[in-house]
Amino acid sequence: MKFVDEFREPEVITKTAEEIRRLADPARHYRIMEVCGGHTHAIYRFGLKDLLPANIELIHGPGCPVCVLPMGRIDDGLSMAQQPGVIFTAFGDMMRVPGTQGSPLEHKARGMDVRIVYSPSDALKLAQANRDKHVMFFAIGFETTAPSTALTLVRAKTQGIHNFSVFCNHVTIIPAIRAILDSPDMRIDAFIGPGHVSTVIGCRPYEWIAKDESKPVAVSGFEPLDILQSIVMVLRQLKAGDAKIENQYKRVVPWEGNRAALKAMAEVFELRPYFEWRGLGFISQSALRIRDTYAQWDAEQRFEIPGVRVTDPKAAQCGEVLKGVLKPHQCKLFGKECTPERPVGALMVSSEGSCAAYFNYEHRKTEMVTRIASVA
Ligand code: SF4
Repeated sequence: MKFVDEFREPEVITKTAEEIRRLADPARHYRIMEVCGGHTHAIYRFGLKDLLPANIELIHGPGCPVCVLPMGRIDDGLSMAQQPGVIFTAFGDMMRVPGTQGSPLEHKARGMDVRIVYSPSDALKLAQANRDKHVMFFAIGFETTAPSTALTLVRAKTQGIHNFSVFCNHVTIIPAIRAILDSPDMRIDAFIGPGHVSTVIGCRPYEWIAKDESKPVAVSGFEPLDILQSIVMVLRQLKAGDAKIENQYKRVVPWEGNRAALKAMAEVFELRPYFEWRGLGFISQSALRIRDTYAQWDAEQRFEIPGVRVTDPKAAQCGEVLKGVLKPHQCKLFGKECTPERPVGALMVSSEGSCAAYFNYEHRKTEMVTRIASVA
C-alpha cells in the first residue's frame, strides 16, 4: 500500500535505529518532545521506545485536544444539552470524557439526547432533519479540525439553518508550545512537530522555536519510520549545534500550510484573549471563538452556561503528565483507579491520550511478560 508499507519496512527501521544510536552522544541525555498525541500513540503502538538508546527520552506533549480540555468546559457543554429540545453531538472520543456529573455517554444513559457524529457537517444534517429540535455540536480540536467546523458554519449561514449551533473549543498549538518552553520545570532539547496540525498551518509558524529558543524541530508523519527519521533529523542538528525547522512529512505537509483552510478559519473564528488548558492553566490567545458575524450559530451566545472552573480530582496528576513532567505510570491513579474502562482523567480516554496509549501498549505488554514469567 502506498505511503504505509514502505514506512514500516523492518530493514530500513533497523538501519535508522542504528543511525540514531550512532548520532546520540552517550555522555548526553536527550529530551525530545513529541507534541502530537498521534505520535505518542504510534510510539507506544509500534514499540519505538525500545529501539532507542536509554539516553533518548521522549516527552509526551499537549497535542491531544480531548486531554487538554478542562473539566469545566465539558460541564458547560452538557449544561446546554440539558435544555429541552437540544440534541448534543460530538465526536466519539468526547463521549467518555468525564465531567463532574459524568461523561456525555453517562448523561445519555440518564436520558439526555446525546449522539456521536463523524463530522460537524453530520451534525448540521441532523439539524436539517430535525427542524423541531436544536442541534449543538461540541467542537474540539487543534487547527486540524477547526477548518471543517468553520466550513460547516459557513454552510449553516448560507443555507439559513438556524436550529444549529457550535460550542467552540478549538485550540491553537503554537501558544501551547510557547507555554511549555516558558515553564520553569521543563527542559526540552528538540521537538517532533505535529503532523496533522501542520497540514493546515504549515511549518513557518514554528520558525521562532529555532530562531529564538535554539531548539530543532522536525515536523513528522505518524508511521514508525517517520518518527525515527524525525529523531535522526533533530539529533543531526543537535550534533552540529544547529537549530532549524525541517519537514519530514513533506508528502503531506506544505511549508506554507493549506491556504483555503486558513481562509475558512479566518472567516469564522477569531482568537480568544485567553483560554484555560488542563495542566497548563490560562494561555493567552490560545483558542478560537466564533466571530460576531456568526453569533446566531455560537452556542455560547445562544445558551446560558455556568462557566465554572472545575479542578481535577485531587489525586489525578493529568496536569503533570500533560506537561511531560511525569510519565503516565507515575500518576498515583494509573492502572488502579484510572484505566481505559473507568477513566478518571481525559488522558486515559482518547486513543491519543498518553495514559491510554501507555496503558494499552506498554503497561499491558509489561503485565503479559510478568504473567508469562510467573507461569514459566
Ligand atoms: S492515570 Fe488517569 S488521573 Fe492519572 S494522569 Fe493519567 S488520566 Fe490523569
